Amino acid sequence: KNARKRLPSWLRQKDPLQKGMLATRNMLKNLELNTVCQNARCPNIGECYSKKTATFMILGQYCTRNCRFCSVTHHKPEAVDLKEAARVAEAVAKLKLKHAVITSVTRDDLEDGGAEQFVRVINAIRERTPSVSVEVLTPDFNNNQAALDKIIKAKPEIFNHNVETVPALYQKVRPQADYQQSLTVLNTVAERDSEIIIKSGMMLGLGESEEELTAVWKDLLAAGVEILTMGQYLQPTNKNIEVAEYIRPEQFEEFKEKALKLGFKSVSSGPHVRSSYLAEETYENLNS
Ligand code: SF4
Ligand code: SF4
Repeated sequence: KNARKRLPSWLRQKDPLQKGMLATRNMLKNLELNTVCQNARCPNIGECYSKKTATFMILGQYCTRNCRFCSVTHHKPEAVDLKEAARVAEAVAKLKLKHAVITSVTRDDLEDGGAEQFVRVINAIRERTPSVSVEVLTPDFNNNQAALDKIIKAKPEIFNHNVETVPALYQKVRPQADYQQSLTVLNTVAERDSEIIIKSGMMLGLGESEEELTAVWKDLLAAGVEILTMGQYLQPTNKNIEVAEYIRPEQFEEFKEKALKLGFKSVSSGPHVRSSYLAEETYENLNS
């Protein structure tokens, strides 16, 4: 009955308890930091934490939205913690990261959707470790221009916002989001600052067709997206939407070739790929 117990061979866990993982987890706990790695139950956590990679989830652990694929708790959000930025910067320094990925829950309750907190974190990292590149993976801010302005001015190296799935599945998968709005957000940043690299990602296996996928790739390219990530959707808890299909690794490879041909500069595509998976390597490769 439980789909998660019937994972195909290529999705079985890599060693989840790798050396170095616990040290990273403890350090983050001591600094009272949330990671999407833990809160979203990412299957790559053993590998990433051992490599001292983590995706920081700022602005609390409660989200004002309730996407059906996501295990982050839907709950009244916490007050904005003004000291959070300094603690993220400390963790980035302690982990000796070269590339930091910062994401947040969606904060529809805040006037600027939490954009100012992203800026605080970017600035704190810049101050403490100026050579670290920063990737922000943001919510859609309801396409609030003032919020996007703040982010653009802070000039992260990468602006990442995930469209997650094809538009026909939004009602089922992301009922509080809007596909066109997400494209507009990506395009706004792309148009306003050509130095910021634009990235987006999708989860596959939710029932999308190849035709629908190809249409999304074209929309993303038209919006100015250069980096694309595609991974297998896995049902994080029994309450989340079920997996429609396990896409084979060869199929992911084929999608990668096709998307690259259409014009993306970098495509990460594979069953284990997540929006932040190997983000540092992706950024380095693009810059070399
Ligand atoms: Fe964390 Fe991203 Fe790695 Fe998953 S892929 S463990 S979310 S850094
Ligand atoms: Fe999860 Fe983001 Fe949706 Fe909130 S907005 S439920 S954190 S995917």
